[in-house]
Amino acid sequence: AEAVTTDGRRITLSANIEFEHEVDLVKQSGAEGVGLFRTEFFLLEREECPSEEEQFALYSRITASMKPHEVIFRTLDAGGDKVPGEPLLEPEPNPFLGWRGIRFSLARRDLFKEQMRAILRAGDTGRVGMMFPLVSGVGEVREAKMLLEQCVAELEERGTPVQSKIEVGAMIEVPSAAMVAADIAAEVDFLSIGTNDLIQYTVAVDRVNPRVASLYRSGHPGFIRLIKQVIDGASQHQIWTGVCGEMAGDLLYLPLLVGLGVDELSVGAQQVPLVKQAVRSLSYADCSALATEALRAGETRTIVELCDKAATAAYPELMS
Ligand code: PEP
Ligand code: MG
Repeated sequence: AEAVTTDGRRITLSANIEFEHEVDLVKQSGAEGVGLFRTEFFLLEREECPSEEEQFALYSRITASMKPHEVIFRTLDAGGDKVPGEPLLEPEPNPFLGWRGIRFSLARRDLFKEQMRAILRAGDTGRVGMMFPLVSGVGEVREAKMLLEQCVAELEERGTPVQSKIEVGAMIEVPSAAMVAADIAAEVDFLSIGTNDLIQYTVAVDRVNPRVASLYRSGHPGFIRLIKQVIDGASQHQIWTGVCGEMAGDLLYLPLLVGLGVDELSVGAQQVPLVKQAVRSLSYADCSALATEALRAGETRTIVELCDKAATAAYPELMS
């Protein structure tokens, strides 16, 4: 069965993974692909980054095994709270505002290009996508794409031309990127909203600090309006928008995300069957009406109540 609403709106349901051994679980879950492969665990577990060949070996095993479904590899997201004691990084006073994600990759082009070549080559064994983390503006995306083109040319020179079309996306995890989502959308094939980071940067709450945890709310009206801006930006350029943070698997907010027009949800493999069942109980028309109302709300509480009502009406058995 597909993740389709009662009135025919189809949502692509994919899974997030960090390790190769999770692939079997993903296949059993009924996911339609991997929407987020977090590569930092594999890349940073040793003193030195694995070589292009080692990366290619892993990536191609995963894509071959997920065939015919797509696997979206997120390029290295070093920094922040990612991997404690990272060998590549010097300590920084504010790591969350520091040398993370695409910023690190654009500074360490040698490593970045090795990884992109490995991902491109894996495209010959299955369907591959690639996305860049912690983008803060369109300039970084253009620069990353320029390096990606260099990688394609280098592979051609080596006699291993890239055969397949690879989807390239930007993660939207920084408010400035959300605000210029339309400009970024002009450069890529999809946008994937990393809500874990986007919320923390929008409400200025460290996502791992318990003292301020109560302020970290997916239902904040400012955040909901920001998501809307991202989806609008993507639809201006006819590309799809996914959500791959924890919020994507939160059944409370599912009616709202569907109503806002999200095309893809990428969640933990264990959550796939539940989210699928929930999507199949929703009416897209009702969800759109809910989204319109939520976009007018001024308080988190109001949005949470609206979502709770919609979710409980559609799938009470999943909400208790
Ligand atoms: C996110 O920020 O929502 C995300 C999916 O990336 P990560 O949790 O790995 O930072
Ligand atoms: Mg993130």
